Amino acid sequence: MINPFEDTIERLEELTVHCGNEHVRFSKQDLDLLSKPRRTLVVNFPVKMSDGSLKIINGYRVQYNDARGPTKGGIRFHPDVDLDEVKALALWMALKTAVLDLPFGGAKGGITINPKEMNQEDIESISRAFMRQIHHFVGASKDIPAPDVYTNAQVMAWMLDEYEKIKGRKEPGMITGKPIELGGSAGRDIATSLGGAYVLKEIAREYKLSDSPSVAIQGFGNAGMNMAKILKDWGYKIIAVSDSKGGVYSEEGLDVDNLINVKSSTGSVTNIEAKKITNSEILELVVDVLVPAALGGQITSENAENIKAKVVIELANGPVTREADKILHKNNIVVAPDILANAGGVTVSYFEWVQNNSDETWEKDVIFTKLEKKMIQAFQRVHELAVNIGSDHRTAAYILAINRIIDAEKKGVSQ
Ligand code: NAD
Repeated sequence: MINPFEDTIERLEELTVHCGNEHVRFSKQDLDLLSKPRRTLVVNFPVKMSDGSLKIINGYRVQYNDARGPTKGGIRFHPDVDLDEVKALALWMALKTAVLDLPFGGAKGGITINPKEMNQEDIESISRAFMRQIHHFVGASKDIPAPDVYTNAQVMAWMLDEYEKIKGRKEPGMITGKPIELGGSAGRDIATSLGGAYVLKEIAREYKLSDSPSVAIQGFGNAGMNMAKILKDWGYKIIAVSDSKGGVYSEEGLDVDNLINVKSSTGSVTNIEAKKITNSEILELVVDVLVPAALGGQITSENAENIKAKVVIELANGPVTREADKILHKNNIVVAPDILANAGGVTVSYFEWVQNNSDETWEKDVIFTKLEKKMIQAFQRVHELAVNIGSDHRTAAYILAINRIIDAEKKGVSQ
């Protein structure tokens, strides 16, 4: 199993070959600053569960870099969460906010639990107890959490409520992805997918994809399901989707509304009538567009040669490892990297934070227009740089982000 943090640090080391290029404003020494997080909090605390037992919970919050603004990043509940995963996710957030030119740094949090095996009462108790552990560390102008894998608007609402009780004041801007009733933003639910779809639209134009491109989506949660809905509405053909139980495939295209109904009523897309495929087979289908929208480490040096998609849109964080990236690039597969392709979520989180801090409520249309502009601008900057330095899009996105972070670091350092 590849360690996602070590893999990313090696990616940073590989960037040094570009130091000295006219488009690169950092040195090898500057990169050392990004080889470790600014601050790390590890917590270990007991929570009383609904059956009367006491459960010991491990949690993390990593603030990777705050040179460009308060740190920003989601909280994940998953049995595989560990410190290195959270560090990698926090570093990617710092790069992502910089690629989108948002006035934020990057952070991430996580708790090592399996919420699928818990009732809502226990998930609420753990969410509130975690906030009691990290409340000194977070805040609207300090570090702003949001949802990630297996956390949602309800979890954000519990955390916000706990935080406001402790502080004795309202501070809706301390968390994003919360329910609209508590200051959440219109459009946040589909923002990650819509942002990825805008990037795909640019790529489809640039690389001349067919009129009705075929798509396979791994993962059918917030990111994957909304991507399926948006792309179907835009005339793409969704030929395969999967979730943690497996996948389904139809060459003629799947009925996305039916998939959504069956997923919500039975818990899995595999319960529709269609050919069954595995989560590794879905990655290797002959498609125009592959969308990994589940977990990290899915495309590795083991299976990268088998990927047949023309374009990969990384809605998940870290789905392609460093070695796999090289193979995809060699095979002329265009990869829209996670720090660009899934940045729609943090961009609308930023809009939510601005609305909270200025007491405004923006209409959905306004938000989507602003989101589209931000995503297209970021894609174009990354694409131009990739062409200029002859690299893949991930290398260009990393260089663009690190240029901006190091510029801010240097301006902020006292003599
Ligand atoms: P989610 O919890 O809503 O959904 C996760 C989905 O992945 C579920 O359908 C689950 O069944 C599926 N899954 C889990 N394990 C799987 C496996 N081994 N194989 C295939 N499918 C599996 O989570 P989400 O918010 O949709 O996040 C998905 C990915 O997108 C994550 O990598 C997350 O970090 C990234 N992401 C999400 C957002 C956001 O705003 N939701 C923003 C940026 C990045």
